[in-house]
Amino acid sequence: MSTDQNTGRVAVITGASSGIGEATARVLAADGHRLALLARRGDRIQALADELGAGAIAIEADVTDRASIAAAADRVQQQLGPADILVNNAGVMLLAPFSSEHTDETRQMIEVNLLGAMTTTEVFLDQLRDGGGDLINLSSVAGRVAGPGSSVYNATKWGLNGWSEALRQELQPDIRVTLIEPGAVATELTDHITHASSKQYADKLYDEVAITAQDVAEVIAFAISRPQRMTLNEILIRPTGQAL
Ligand code: NDP
Repeated sequence: MSTDQNTGRVAVITGASSGIGEATARVLAADGHRLALLARRGDRIQALADELGAGAIAIEADVTDRASIAAAADRVQQQLGPADILVNNAGVMLLAPFSSEHTDETRQMIEVNLLGAMTTTEVFLDQLRDGGGDLINLSSVAGRVAGPGSSVYNATKWGLNGWSEALRQELQPDIRVTLIEPGAVATELTDHITHASSKQYADKLYDEVAITAQDVAEVIAFAISRPQRMTLNEILIRPTGQAL
């Protein structure tokens, strides 16, 4: 997927320890970018950084903890130079009916998916402004299509969409904002669902139609590789056969 455009930049990826974040790291490394891999599971990102070689560093960080993200930004600046690309990918999908039995899941989804992306962006904003940055936000088809059992996840992704569109206007031309909206992608995302029938529903859908994390990573790499004069604002990636 290598192109001549926009290679050799510094990319920060949150949630790089698995799934779409990990796949994106591999594709961007192959395209010649230097990488800061952020996640809570330090062993996973360190192993990935070791595999990707000298241009990649692993930084253990939790997007719900501003101090750890601020420390990560300092390390990126010192070890790689200012970030050119931020991929706000960290996310959780703890599907469950909306009720007082699931307040922990509600809070975690909002804190990771929405506030985590906002905190990370705010912390890296000055670095991104230098020299034409790219901000990539991982939303979802669930940011456009809502359904029972998914209300809070829907709210976080709907929120990301509105926030991203406002930022697109506010930050241009310094920073290009791109929203990625995948449908079902085979990753660890559904492993964390504890509500039995929600998990059953998700597992069935994913078994039937899910695309690969690599599919999404290649689309992200393509969006980043376009010349700065254009923005692929919103990229909806529906697996063939996914009804909604
Ligand atoms: P995974 O579960 O494989 O990856 C999620 C990543 O988020 C992990 O690397 C995890 O790392 C990280 N993460 C979770 N909580 C935190 C936290 N508090 N701080 C830092 N990192 C955190 O799922 P996906 O790859 O599928 O998900 C990536 C993104 O794509 C999410 O935003 C998801 O909503 C979105 N998406 C996924 C779809 C799918 O079908 N898979 C479809 C549409 C969108 P660690 O636990 O090590 O911290």
